[in-house]
Amino acid sequence: MTFDILTLFPEAVESMLGISIIGRARKAGLLSVNCYQIRDYTEDKHRNVDDTPAGGGMGMVMAAQPIYDCYRNAVRNAPEGERRRVIYLSPRGRHLTHALAAELSTCDRLVLLCGHYEGVDQRVLDEMDAEEISVGDYVLTGGELPACILVDAVSRLLPGVLADPSCYEEESIASGLLEYPQYTKPAVWHDRAVPEVLLSGDHKKVDAWRLEQSLALTEARRPDLYDAYMAAHPPKPPKKRRKKEESGG
Ligand code: SAM
Repeated sequence: MTFDILTLFPEAVESMLGISIIGRARKAGLLSVNCYQIRDYTEDKHRNVDDTPAGGGMGMVMAAQPIYDCYRNAVRNAPEGERRRVIYLSPRGRHLTHALAAELSTCDRLVLLCGHYEGVDQRVLDEMDAEEISVGDYVLTGGELPACILVDAVSRLLPGVLADPSCYEEESIASGLLEYPQYTKPAVWHDRAVPEVLLSGDHKKVDAWRLEQSLALTEARRPDLYDAYMAAHPPKPPKKRRKKEESGG
């Protein structure tokens, strides 16, 4: 999987995506991240990349020309027929969810455009056939953090990036529930003890406790997820009592 990130702040993106699991995955060749400085493609003699909004109003709008030339350069050697999506990170977009990250993880290349100021000239979005994706119902100053969130969420679903698919399958959201509380050593800290069942060594009991905790947390915090989970996992009907028991024998 290749991520091409078109940005005015490549150093911000590089620093976020050069560390920890994603940094190691890049070094191991499991994914590539290429950052492109949009300003390098401007034809403006003052190296400007933005201008005043047509129709008037506050702020500045990122111009079409540098973005489009930057995009053309990023995809110039891309193989014919690759599964590619062009994404503009934007508060107007479809919300990024686990399901969308899983869908995007099947692509060969994602081109991510980070906006700034009041946003981007609509014509370049139309020309690139860009889809818009939002990281939540709030407005940030730029698209770099959203792009890093998207790269992180998608990358951890790629084969080999995490030690085992169960690492994400059993986590909050992907499992359909919120995760149970986690503990580590020591067994007592600040007079707070790790729940006894977790130290029992009885894996069946541990699993049952974790499920119970997950269900309770999800019901309290995310009734929408809880209802969907319960609809997909209806409680099993109680087993029929054996005849002997019924006859009292
Ligand atoms: N004027 C735009 C609007 O009202 O939709 C907001 C522009 S915002 C100040 C600047 C840039 O930050 C956007 O072009 C976008 O790339 C990014 N951005 C801000 N909030 C975002 C969000 N919730 N999700 C994804 N990108 C966001």
